[in-house]
Amino acid sequence: MIVILKPKTPKAEVDSLTKAIKNLGVEVHPVIGKELMILGLIGDTSKIDPNKIEANRNVERVMHVQEPFKKANRMFHPENSKVDVNGITIGGKKIALIAGPCSVESEEQIISIAKSVKASGTQLLRGGAFKPRTSPYSFQGLETEGLDLLKVARKETGMPIVTEIMSTQYLDRFVEDVDIIQVGARNMQNFDLLKELGKTNKTILLKRGLSATIEELLMSAEYIMAGGNNNVILCERGIRTFETYTRNTLDLSAIPAIKKLSHLPVVVDPSHAAGKNWMVDPLSKAAIAVGADGLIIEVHNDPVNALCDGPQSIRPEEYDKLVKELSLIAAAVGREI
Ligand code: PEP
Ligand code: MN
Repeated sequence: MIVILKPKTPKAEVDSLTKAIKNLGVEVHPVIGKELMILGLIGDTSKIDPNKIEANRNVERVMHVQEPFKKANRMFHPENSKVDVNGITIGGKKIALIAGPCSVESEEQIISIAKSVKASGTQLLRGGAFKPRTSPYSFQGLETEGLDLLKVARKETGMPIVTEIMSTQYLDRFVEDVDIIQVGARNMQNFDLLKELGKTNKTILLKRGLSATIEELLMSAEYIMAGGNNNVILCERGIRTFETYTRNTLDLSAIPAIKKLSHLPVVVDPSHAAGKNWMVDPLSKAAIAVGADGLIIEVHNDPVNALCDGPQSIRPEEYDKLVKELSLIAAAVGREI
């Protein structure tokens, strides 16, 4: 339930109304913007009589929120949310670029790729240390050694690091060492993990599950936000459809849909969506054109010998060319690279 207050309601009146509503047994989240003043009610609102709240002279209107997600809902936060990671804003005018290899393989590899993508204008470095592989016999990542190497790359380049968490086992280390914790597609509905991440104040990059609906993605974001952590970035990375030509089908319509339903920033991962290196370029451009706030792209200096996801990884020089071309698309939709 949303309570829309009359413009310029004095703070003391907002506070006393908030207190009165809290006494009805729900949580109240005030969103006090320049144009709009809103109280978002979270919890069991079924016993609350909207007429009684509307009777308050400072209340303009009371609205029901149809969707099951509340804190992630745009109704609760009409303006786009911006997430700040070490001074880098995600969700603002500037498109956030996250790039790096699928997996951290060695110090030389991660530092070389980090330096190249930084030179192309990338703000954040990605690299998997714990890898969710389909086969237990495939390379599983360098694990904690991979985290150490990411820290070395951060020190060398100054770029914040983004890496995937697979379970709560190393949560303390992730909180300590990582700038953005990625929740992979396969863990999107690992609710115990989401709840634990909700207790931290780390930025979480939440990827859409392989066959998750947009509403399910937003409900997973809600799990993190319900714990008090509002630093959530959503990621469309392709979903499984009947099409087998591509690894997944990039759901471009999810970006405007999420923007309508939610205030959270959305980034697109064209690499896992396509599964093919040559498709990363057109899909990245399309993603920016439909309103994505950023891209997360797999870049490898030796894709043929990559230990994971080589076929979808582009080379640093291809990435550099792509970033240059993206600035034209960004400008066309009122954004910048
Ligand atoms: C990854 O980013 O390397 C990854 C495994 O992605 P996803 O969870 O989207 O498959
Ligand atoms: Mn990958």
